[in-house]
Parts: sequence; structure tokens; C-alpha cells
Amino acid sequence: MNAETLAIGDEITSGQLLDTNSQWLSQRLGELGVRVLYHTTVGDELAAGVAVFRQAIDRADLVIATGGLGPTADDLTRGVLAEATGRRLVRNDAALAHIREIYARRRRDMPPRNEVQAMFPEGSRMVANPNGTAPGIAMEIARPGRGPCHVFALPGVPAEMKEMWAGSVRAALVDRGAGRRVVVHRNIKCFGAGESNVEAMLPDLVRRDRVPRVGITASRTTIILRITAEGATAAECEAAIAPTVATIHECLGDLVFGQDDEELEDVVVRLLTRRNRTLAVAEWGTAGLVAQWLALAAARATCRPKISPSKEALAEPVALDVNAPFNPFSGGIIVRDEQALVRALDVPWAVVAEHGAASAAVAEAMAQACRRRFGADYGLAVSQFPERDPASAEPPSVHFALATSEGVRPKSVPFAGHLATLAVFCAKHALDFARLELGAR
Ligand code: ATP
Repeated sequence: MNAETLAIGDEITSGQLLDTNSQWLSQRLGELGVRVLYHTTVGDELAAGVAVFRQAIDRADLVIATGGLGPTADDLTRGVLAEATGRRLVRNDAALAHIREIYARRRRDMPPRNEVQAMFPEGSRMVANPNGTAPGIAMEIARPGRGPCHVFALPGVPAEMKEMWAGSVRAALVDRGAGRRVVVHRNIKCFGAGESNVEAMLPDLVRRDRVPRVGITASRTTIILRITAEGATAAECEAAIAPTVATIHECLGDLVFGQDDEELEDVVVRLLTRRNRTLAVAEWGTAGLVAQWLALAAARATCRPKISPSKEALAEPVALDVNAPFNPFSGGIIVRDEQALVRALDVPWAVVAEHGAASAAVAEAMAQACRRRFGADYGLAVSQFPERDPASAEPPSVHFALATSEGVRPKSVPFAGHLATLAVFCAKHALDFARLELGAR
């Protein structure tokens, strides 16, 4: 069974509203093993609605539409569906009773206008909407020479649509054969190479007809290989996925940092915790992004209950709690000018004056200084972002440094991408540097 979602409304086609209904429905359909081939969006216009419904009924076995079931003149879905399928609109008494009951529950009179919500294409069924006035519509459309198309029209309000999915639509689809197959996805995450480089390193994995399927996408400079397997059970899917995961690891080596929800900062926190080591950061260009991500990852990892200290306790001198859970991220310092480099991080003025803030020398001094200040095992630094020289063909480099008890290691990365991605690109490079130095190698 393949499917199409139809999002209906001028709000969506005009760009005021993002169609999150199709996103959500596609995820639920994917869980049932139903492949969604099309997302269609159409404005509140009869002819356009009829055309997209006819097209969807022809090319998909299942069509789920959302929106346009309200009582107002611009809510056209009922009429569109009737015209697209060549059926009359007739009153559905159960639907009318439901709408009356909703108004009675709200202790309000039902405006006559709402009666229109009980008009259904002949031969269709009501999909109960326990908390809204707009009942949904379900119908089967016969298609010569092949199976019927199952059509569901649900209200646009996401909470109502989701409740109706869970209450009846999902079960109706399972009755019609969906969900017999299980679909499992595994995301393998890589950092440090571009999408096409990663693809070239893999032995023809990203091929349309491959089983299990492998897709490749880039999300905020992380490359994600998405493996999708279909089978009778989750265990069967996992078994099908495992050899592909092994091949990816073999081909990409250190470029792979994690899977599914794991981010680079989670891996750094895990490696630090495993080695009982702490890390502090000093940032200029990334303006605290690395520190924020690490702090949140450390909080996720330890899941400590948050206890706010009382005012009296805060007035006391800070006592070190030796029983406190281990915290791998000590903290960070953000600097945004040369004076701060000297004052907050003790970078010698001579180094700043000689090399400039966007330099390897200053990044190294920042890394050593933050390591010292926080008493951490590692100090990680990101330099000031360099200016782009329009006259130069060479992209400018961003400098990083990692200080340890044995010395300081530099890293420089040229940046030729869009400026909007610069901070995220550099924050991830800093974390990836720490990840590789901490032992993924
Ligand atoms: P109602 O009876 O509440 O009017 P309806 O079926 O007519 O239901 P719409 O008027 O089309 O629904 O949409 C109601 C609201 O639901 C919209 O204002 C919007 O906030 C939300 N909505 C509609 N379609 C979508 C969509 N595709 N994705 C996310 N939200 C949506």
C-alpha cells in the first residue's frame, strides 16, 4: 500500500502555516509499513481541490487529507470530495447528532451554519471526532482493474487529527492490511566530510533498489545515512540492518560518530565520563555554542534531579561536595574582544598583537588558559572567525586547539560554506576534534 497526504488550506499555500500534519501522518504511516509517495498541498479553491483529489485517488492506494472540514464558506473539502468522486452530498444523521451533542456539551446553541458539517458524499462513513465539531469522512473509491483507493478526510486542527488517527483511522488501516510488516530505521551519523565524499566512500549502498534501503542526507553539516528495513518482526529488520551498519563503519571509519539521536556532544561527554576526565572550553567565534551543547549533553547523560539551592545556602561559601556525581564538562568562557582575551583568559598581549585573534597561536593560548582556569583535564578553544578576503581565492581558516597535560594540539579548518552555517560548522568541528583526540581513534 502506498499513500499520499493532502494538506488543504490557503493558510498553508500562502506560507503562513507549515504543513506539520503531513509530516506527522507520514511518520505514523511509515510505522505501519505504508510508504508515502506524495505530499500535496492545495489552497481553498474548488477546481484545484477536485484536481488534486482525482490525481491522488489515481496514483495512491491511500489518501489522507487534512483541513477544510469547518462550517465556513472557505471550508470546501466535503464538496471537493463529492465532486472528485462523482457522488452527491447527503446528510449523515449520525454526524449531525454528533455536532449537536458537541454544542450541547458546550452549553451553546448550534448555529444553523454547522449543519453543513454533516453533509457527506454518498456512500461515505463518519470518522468520529470526539472533541471537535468537524467529523471526518472515510470512503472507498473503486478503481477499474485494481484495488480501491481508501480516502480519509480529517480536520486540520492537529490535536483533533491525531486523536482521530489513534481512535479509529489507524485501526481501519490495519484492518485493510497495513501494519503487517514492521519498518525499522537506523540513522548512522558522520561528521568531517561532505555528502558526496561520504557517498563515494561507500560501495554502492545508496542505490534505489537496495535492501535494506540506504538514504543520505545532510543536516546542519552532519551527514546522516538512513537505513530502512522492512520485515515481519523488528528482530528481522534489525538483522537485515546489522551488516549494512558494519559495512558503513568499515568504509567510513572515524567519520562515523554515532547513531539515531546521538549528537557529537553526547559522544564527547560519554568518552570523557568513561575516562573520568573533565573538559573546559574557551570560545570566540562560536559564542558559547560548544559550551551550551556540552552542558545540555552532560545534563542529559547524568539526569541529575535539579535542586535549586536556597538563598541561605547561596550566601554560604561554596563547599566542594565530594559525593556529587561526576561532571565531565567543567564550564566555558566566551570572549568577544582582544581585551577579554587578555583579562579573562590571560592570553599574553604580545601573542594577540603579533598573531591577531583569528590565529592558531591565540587558539592554543585560549585552550591552555581555560584548562588552567577550570582545573580541567582538557581545554578546548575556538578562535575568532577570520574576515573573508574578497581578493583571495583561498578560503579563510578557523583555528581550534585542545590543551592536555602533555601539551597543546592545533587544528585549522578552511571554511568555504555559507556564512549562515559557520557557527554550527565550527562548533561541530571543535567537538569532533575533542572526540577524535579523546579516543575514537
Ligand atoms: P475546523 O472545524 O476547526 O475549522 P478544519 O478541518 O476546517 O477544522 P482548518 O480550518 O483547515 O481545519 O484548519 C484549522 C487549523 O488547524 C488551522 O488554522 C491550523 O492552525 C491547523 N492546521 C490546518 N491544517 C494544518 C496542517 N496541514 N498542518 C498543521 N496545522 C494545520
